[in-house]
Amino acid sequence: MSQTLEAQLVAWRRELHQYPELSNEEFATTERIQNWLRSADIRQLPFDLKTGVIAEIGQGEPLIALRADIDALPIDEVAPVEFRSKNPGVMHACGHDIHTSVILGAALLLKARESSLPGRVRLLFQPAEERFGGAKTLIGAGALEGVSAIFGAHNAPELPVGTFATRGGPFYANVDRFDIEIEGKGAHAARPQEGVDSIVIASQIVTALQTLVSRNYSPLESVVVSVTRIEGGNTWNVLPQKVVLEGTVRTHNDAIRAEIPARIEKLISSIAEGFGGRAQLNWHGGPPAVVNTERWAEFSKQVAARAGYEVRHAEVQMGGEDFAFYLHNTPGTFVSIGSASEFGLHHPGFNPDDSLIYPAAQFFSQLAEAALQEIN
Ligand SMILES: [Zn+2]
Ligand SMILES: [Zn+2]
Repeated sequence: MSQTLEAQLVAWRRELHQYPELSNEEFATTERIQNWLRSADIRQLPFDLKTGVIAEIGQGEPLIALRADIDALPIDEVAPVEFRSKNPGVMHACGHDIHTSVILGAALLLKARESSLPGRVRLLFQPAEERFGGAKTLIGAGALEGVSAIFGAHNAPELPVGTFATRGGPFYANVDRFDIEIEGKGAHAARPQEGVDSIVIASQIVTALQTLVSRNYSPLESVVVSVTRIEGGNTWNVLPQKVVLEGTVRTHNDAIRAEIPARIEKLISSIAEGFGGRAQLNWHGGPPAVVNTERWAEFSKQVAARAGYEVRHAEVQMGGEDFAFYLHNTPGTFVSIGSASEFGLHHPGFNPDDSLIYPAAQFFSQLAEAALQEIN
C-alpha cells in the first residue's frame, strides 16, 4: 500500500509539474485535484471559488486545517527533468506542485483512518499564493470558520531531504512593495541647465534609501529596503522627464512597518524638491509577517521528530508567504521541509527532490490526528 501510495504521489506531482498554471488561472489544476479527491471518495465542500479546492475528512469537532498552495510562476523552465513544464513560460518553480501532492497524500492517509479520527480535518488547496491573494480569498469565502488550528509547509531547497525546521513566533517577514515616480524636466543632454535631471534625483534617492534602515533602526532589528527596478530615459542625448523606481520593504516589527512609508515619503520629497523636481511614493501593502503560535510550533517539532525527521530550529526569514493571513485569525504553524535543490526557489533550474513527498504526507497526517487529540 505505502509503496503504491508513494509512487502515486510522485506521479501526481510530476503531472502537476508538467501542467503548471499561474495565480488565479489554476483551472486544470483544480480539476485534477477534484478528480483525485473524488477517486479517493473524499468529500469536497461547496465553497464558491473560481479556482482552488476545499475538502474535508472526519466528523464532528474539533476542526483543524491543512493548507497547500497550487499556483506556479511565469518562468521558462530549464531543469533537466523528463517531466518538464509543457506550458511555455510557466513553471512550478516554488514547488507548490510538491506541496499539493503532500497534502493529497496526507488526505489519503487520513481517509484510511477516517472512522477513528477524533474530529475533522479540512484540506485547503489554495490558489494564488505567489500574488499573495489566495489566502485572503479563502478566508473571505469562510474556509476558516470553526477551524481551531491550521498547518502548512514550504519546501526548503537549502535543507537536505529528511530535515524539518520551524520556529515559534515571527518566521517570515511583512512584505510590502513600493514605487516612486520622480518628475524632473526633460532637456537636451547638452543643455542640462534648462532641465531638472530626474536621473540625478533618482540616483540620490536610491543612495539615500540605503540609510533609511542603517541610520534609523537598531542593527538588531530585521529591516530590508531594496530598490529593484529603475526605469527612465530611452536614448543617449535626452535628459528624461521622468524616472520610476520600484522596490520592496521587509520587516518583522509591525510598528516599524507602519512608519516606514512616512519616512520614505519625507526623504524622497525633500531630495526631489532640493533639486527642483517632485517625487511621489505609491505604497502597496502586502501580506503580514508569518507569526507561528509557540505551542503549535513546538508540537509540530515533536511530531516531526517522532516521524523520523532531523528537526532544526528555523532562522527568521525575510521572504514572504501569504499563510500569514491565516495565522492572523487562527492559531497554527508554518514549517519548512528540506527539498535539496541545487537551484533555489523561483530559479528556472529549481529541481527539488520529490522523494520528500511521501514522508511529508505521513508527517501531516500524523500531525493532523495528533492535533485533533491535543485539542479534544
Ligand atoms: Zn514562491
Ligand atoms: Zn512558494
